[in-house]
Amino acid sequence: MSIDRAATDAAERCLYCPKMCRFACPVAHESARETLTPWGKMSLVSLALARSQAPLPSGVEQIFRKARALFDGGAAWPLDADAAEILYACTGCLRCRTWCEHENDVPHALLQARAIAAERGLAPAGAHAVVERFERHGHTQQGDLAQAIARLTEDSAVSPGSTSVLFAGCEAPLSNPNSVRATLRAASRLNAPLALAKEPLCCGRPLFEAGFRDRFKKEVSRAWERLGDREVVALSATCVRALTEDARAVGVEPRGPVIHATTYLARRLGPDVQALPLPGRVAWHDPCQLGRGLGEYDSPRRLLEASLAAGYVEAPTSREQANCCGAGGLVPETYPELAQAMAMSRADELRSTGLEKVATACPSCARALSAAGLDVVDVVELAADWLCGPEPAKEP
Ligand code: SF4
Ligand code: SF4
Repeated sequence: MSIDRAATDAAERCLYCPKMCRFACPVAHESARETLTPWGKMSLVSLALARSQAPLPSGVEQIFRKARALFDGGAAWPLDADAAEILYACTGCLRCRTWCEHENDVPHALLQARAIAAERGLAPAGAHAVVERFERHGHTQQGDLAQAIARLTEDSAVSPGSTSVLFAGCEAPLSNPNSVRATLRAASRLNAPLALAKEPLCCGRPLFEAGFRDRFKKEVSRAWERLGDREVVALSATCVRALTEDARAVGVEPRGPVIHATTYLARRLGPDVQALPLPGRVAWHDPCQLGRGLGEYDSPRRLLEASLAAGYVEAPTSREQANCCGAGGLVPETYPELAQAMAMSRADELRSTGLEKVATACPSCARALSAAGLDVVDVVELAADWLCGPEPAKEP
């Protein structure tokens, strides 16, 4: 495993940057550690990994490299266990990219560096714990996923004419099975029924984030074997990215298109879809992977506008600038206190709208913000209640 050219260049740019995006990083903000700023993490990538493999530069870059040699002697840093831990202090939220003149993709570089750390036996305990849970249960969540999926397939009406399949992942069926049922209900009502994959499937993204790419490749290949070549609709944008770009990063070509559930449902909205909007109002939390990751900001907002008579309220930071709730990038495993602090900060920001009820479109965000004391609902649940009427909550 080596760092690719895009990551090498990005790390080099960060090394000489006056930390322009420092304020944007939720990890740096909560930890108050320079080392955990995007600059600190990417400088480590450059000095410990990228510099040693960078090809001979030319032109302006050559002058730049000479200046660097004068500045610090061109020295490299060793990648040891303490340094490797720093690579795991990133939620993958991409918020730094919003303020970066170069649009540097920091997580892209850090995830490659994590893979190198894992290869060298330097992954932290939290990353190993994820792999061990995968080996035992086939996913990283608490609970019996096979039983949860069996219940969902028993009590969910699925049209045999479905041409697209709902990939529920491992988190939603266990933490909020109503969101899975709601997606199926809303899709049927919009004349676009979805089939539900009948066996427990996980995209394997936590393995990718932990740096264990061979293990991730096995898991994502298995998912695609089961999904076939139909259109896949996922409840989590993290699953969308894992089944597509992360899969490609390990040499697995997606067999069909993958889109988020809010995109799928919002495409079917139109003047012919009429129902009485629900009472109440919610604050909206943009999931990082859905917004900055997939560029999908409008579909969940269209569903909220249609579903609620009083609509929704934007958080003080939203869309490209939305703050992160701390649930991604394996940070809850590797830096649990920081993850909790990020969730509390985002919850306080959402509360400042005057609302305690928050809608989002990501099972991980929902879990983190619920733990921070908010009343959280998935936008697909609101859409299903609007379109089909409320369904009595069913226990998993
Ligand atoms: S991501 Fe961009 S703004 Fe942030 S430290 Fe790197 S070069 Fe600077
Ligand atoms: S992706 Fe998010 S957590 Fe990672 S360095 Fe950038 S701002 Fe910080």
